[in-house]
Amino acid sequence: MKKKVVLSLLAAGAMVISLAACSSGGSSGSSTSSAGANAGGLIGVAMPTKSSERWIADGNNIKTQLEAAGYTVDLEYAEDDIPTQVSQLENMITKGAKALIIASIDGTTLTNTLQNAKDNNIPVIAYDRLIRDSENVDYYATFDNYKVGVEQATSLLTGLGLVDASGNKTAVKGPFNVELFAGSPDDNNATFFFNGAMDTLKPYIADGSVVIKSGQTDFNTVATLRWDPATAQARMENILTSTYSDGSKVNGVLSPYDGLSRGIISALTSAGYTAADIPIITGQDAEIDSVKAINAGEQYSTIYKDTRELAKVAVAMATAVLNGQTPETNDSKTYDNGKKVVPAELLQPVVVTKDNIQSVLIDGGYYTAAQVNG
Ligand code: BGC
Repeated sequence: MKKKVVLSLLAAGAMVISLAACSSGGSSGSSTSSAGANAGGLIGVAMPTKSSERWIADGNNIKTQLEAAGYTVDLEYAEDDIPTQVSQLENMITKGAKALIIASIDGTTLTNTLQNAKDNNIPVIAYDRLIRDSENVDYYATFDNYKVGVEQATSLLTGLGLVDASGNKTAVKGPFNVELFAGSPDDNNATFFFNGAMDTLKPYIADGSVVIKSGQTDFNTVATLRWDPATAQARMENILTSTYSDGSKVNGVLSPYDGLSRGIISALTSAGYTAADIPIITGQDAEIDSVKAINAGEQYSTIYKDTRELAKVAVAMATAVLNGQTPETNDSKTYDNGKKVVPAELLQPVVVTKDNIQSVLIDGGYYTAAQVNG
């Protein structure tokens, strides 16, 4: 179904290009000629950082797909610096971008820039992360972010043995010591992940089978600015010193992103944890180093979000809007950005553990066996 939409958009794009090639500037304002004017135009793609693999894959996938549809692409990375992202977007607008696809660094800082885009009639697609506090966000391509959090917590509970493979509570009582980490407080996704996870963990905290031994449970305390692995590592080290120097052990860690999980694993192994007693640790993004860590038994799970599919959705949205069509969306109520509810297309996340690396990641063509085992 999705494939069909993309294929027909590609076909439409190709038609538009050939129409544009035939007509020598007869722009009469009809819908065909305005689509013609947009075909082959520039699309600005703003990604947050190259320090995490997923955004490199996202950017490359979007660029390749847009170029195949006949557009030129200005793909920029801002190394997690907000003013840099703002000036990259302003440049794209100045260069005459026909549309913007934006994975924001801080979802609350683009209001003026998006007003500028609106004044220049440039549609905006929020990519993966919702852009807040602006009416000028047209569509949102993302995953079901609340469900990501639910899946992270469910896999943590499964790894601890509190939940069985079919998601049901077992007879295991624990108690298990668990520590919580959340993502960047300026990323709208971070609260969705955390809320999904906490709603899932709450009954287990309430019945005492999960104990947050450090007592650190509120979002602002457990959040990790800019998703920085070093910040998570330092916080885990502090918790080990403050809470576990009595010889007790951490049994589980809720981590919302593979990069943080690697920092957390470093803190734990430096403190003497080995493969035999390393806690159940979650993650997100199926980054290759973390997939290897899952294979090696250091990390328990990750959440796989196929960036090829997300790119497809964003490209379909941008090209539909530029061709005067309404993009396909499947959610019109969840993502209120403070100014409007942004129509969204939500893809489904997939939990990956050691058991399904082969069937999901390798058979699905996301990684080769050599990458995973290398
Ligand atoms: C994305 C996650 C990613 C995180 C850190 C979030 O907005 O949804 O996939 O792990 O940012 O880059």
